Amino acid sequence: MFNTEHTPEIGVAKKLTDGLLVVTAPNASPMTFTGTQSYILGDSEVAVIDPGPNDPAHFEALKRAIAGRPVSHVLVTHSHIDHSPLAQAFEAPVLAFGPSGAGMSEVMQGLVELDGGEGIDRDFKPDQLLADGDIVTGAGWAVEAVHTPGHMSNHLCFAFEGGLLSGDHVMAWSTTLVSPPDGDLTQFMASLRKLQARNDTRYFPGHGPVLEDPQAMLAYQIAHRQARETQILEALPGKISDITTAVYSDLDSRLLPMAARNVFSHLIDLCQRGKVLCNGPIRFDGRFELVD
Ligand SMILES: [Zn+2]
Repeated sequence: MFNTEHTPEIGVAKKLTDGLLVVTAPNASPMTFTGTQSYILGDSEVAVIDPGPNDPAHFEALKRAIAGRPVSHVLVTHSHIDHSPLAQAFEAPVLAFGPSGAGMSEVMQGLVELDGGEGIDRDFKPDQLLADGDIVTGAGWAVEAVHTPGHMSNHLCFAFEGGLLSGDHVMAWSTTLVSPPDGDLTQFMASLRKLQARNDTRYFPGHGPVLEDPQAMLAYQIAHRQARETQILEALPGKISDITTAVYSDLDSRLLPMAARNVFSHLIDLCQRGKVLCNGPIRFDGRFELVD
């Protein structure tokens, strides 16, 4: 299902479709795969989508790709430090759903002291807020903001004529990280279903290759998360550590902390849906059991 064959030339613009260039940042890692992908949309005047990490070499690469054309907008899918910090390096207004934490559910707001283990750009402040369905138009292009919380509560995808800029919500190389409190599985599943109801033909993600068959990927990811949920329900009652070792018995032990975050995201979702309860307020070291 996943396509991990991807060898971008770092810092060199590549045309993906009419009016869309991609420039890959020099920040490859296990989390960012071959690096964060910044997109340049338009011809005579352009928008920069996800300008990327605060890296002068990447800024120079973007300027080379923009080649002197005016930048009218900077659009940001979500405020993780590999996507948003360079937004302030451009003179154009920055458009996004909101700062880090915008769109967070009440249950996640109650868990904010918990560190989700990801790099959040706490300084991110968009100049203009976009709501679901808002249309942004530039010279020869238009995008629709599609609010897709889950990977992060302020996550937007941007639909344009050639497809969907899908950020970290849906990618071809891997499933995305959903780590509470910034990641929310209840929201994530709803956002997958929201994209199922649309007919965007191709996805241009924040990392990795273009996704050519998005509907198959959406169906796969929903089924994958549902299968994981069934395993977790079968491992109850218990604490997250016990459930994680039961469900991920074959996993490299170095990856167990991230797997535990994933189990936690499922348990919060199951509590929200009234299928599981925690002894006391929902917390990482709580004990979880089935509701009979
Ligand atoms: Zn991200």
